[in-house]
Amino acid sequence: MSLKNTSEEYDIAIIGAGPAGLFLANYIEDLNFIVLEEHEEVGKPLHCAGLLSLRGLERLGFIPQKSIQNKVKGAVFVSPSGLKLIVKSRRDEAIVVDREYFDKELAKKVIDRIKLGVKVLNAVRKGRRWILKTRRGNIYSKILVDAEGFRYNLSVKLGFNKPPKNLLLPAIQVELEKVKDLDEELVEIYLGNRWAPGFFAWIIPLSSEEARVGLAAKSQPQVYLKNFLDKHPIASSRLRTAKIRRVLGGRVVLTGIYGEIAKGSSILIGDVAGQAKPTTGGGVIYSGIAAQIASTVIRDELSKNGKDIRLEKYDKTWRRTLGKELFFMKVARLFMMQIRDEDYDKIVGKMKDIGFEAIAEREGDIDFQYKVLKRILQTPSLYLTQIPRLLISFIKSFLI
Ligand SMILES: Cc1cc2nc3c(=O)[nH]c(=O)nc-3n(C[C@H](O)[C@H](O)[C@H](O)COP(=O)(O)OP(=O)(O)OC[C@H]3O[C@@H](n4cnc5c(N)ncnc54)[C@H](O)[C@@H]3O)c2cc1C
Repeated sequence: MSLKNTSEEYDIAIIGAGPAGLFLANYIEDLNFIVLEEHEEVGKPLHCAGLLSLRGLERLGFIPQKSIQNKVKGAVFVSPSGLKLIVKSRRDEAIVVDREYFDKELAKKVIDRIKLGVKVLNAVRKGRRWILKTRRGNIYSKILVDAEGFRYNLSVKLGFNKPPKNLLLPAIQVELEKVKDLDEELVEIYLGNRWAPGFFAWIIPLSSEEARVGLAAKSQPQVYLKNFLDKHPIASSRLRTAKIRRVLGGRVVLTGIYGEIAKGSSILIGDVAGQAKPTTGGGVIYSGIAAQIASTVIRDELSKNGKDIRLEKYDKTWRRTLGKELFFMKVARLFMMQIRDEDYDKIVGKMKDIGFEAIAEREGDIDFQYKVLKRILQTPSLYLTQIPRLLISFIKSFLI
């Protein structure tokens, strides 16, 4: 869309052309809206590993065609001392996409409604309208959708809560060629404070010898990634001699619900709304689910001609749909941020003993993890031997 230096008026202004803004744009394609994106190109800069559940995408009615790089059937979890827990399904569970091209595919149908290179500096409400300030003039709208991602600049100006900083972990990822001994069907997850304190390291295969390798950590992820590539007893011999072709960074959002996501005629959606899984930081599918909910509420409110627009129902419906999931995933994440490497080893060992691999294969869902987390909590033998120490970790997890 061309950049005009004029004032323009829309029913809906969406700030940000990431997955959250783009899913919503697709669901309200027939309405009068504009998407404002500060960068000159959709999909850049990149900050994603591109692992998306197939069931999640089916729920959203969007299966990308051109950006798929690989399909995976499961994951192998490696404890700090090298104990492996393999959860593998017979069918493809997730796809690995090139996020730049995924976003471009998502933008295709609505490309004429996206203004690139337009940064929203501030947004203020006057009467029944929002005034969005940009260097190229003002834009006016009845509804404001903040889909700015993990930076929270506008959301705070709009009066929404600040997210808890300790749950926005810095992350780094490299894309590698000539990796040895990759199983193309399995994502590898490496647990332990020694390797990625507060989170985990991942190897996501793109082919038999290409992979994305990354981690998030409480601090200095680049130092931990170097350590992981050079020294991990299982991974490093396969990675050390590989060639780096791309490096990226970002923040994984582990906050879950941290405050209101709707106030009158403004809403937050995507990472800025804490709509990512606190266990893994995966946010693409959740932003799509939020966009489905938001589109219904926006449509209803706009149809009530002349009345004040109130979008609080979006917040309520989001909590009803995913509040329980997010709560349990956050408790699990806070707990994992506290436990010691020896406990990780013991828990992974016990999980193998109780046949967790089969339970997860049967009942697991990458996007809806409550069911499997509940099964873990209902298996006291997993933590009985460690009760005093784990109890302390559990209590501490609520204090951070
Ligand atoms: C290393 C890493 C790996 C990840 N891997 C995965 C994964 O495998 N699977 C998964 O599901 N999730 C993953 N995630 C999370 C995923 O990237 C996010 O959840 C997702 O991108 C959130 O989408 P969004 O639209 O909310 O935000 P974003 O993708 O950040 O998009 C926000 C957009 O808003 C624009 N913007 C911001 N401010 C303004 C402004 N003032 N004016 C105009 N435009 C503005 C930005 O330029 C950006 O394009 C990963 C994250 C990281 C850091």
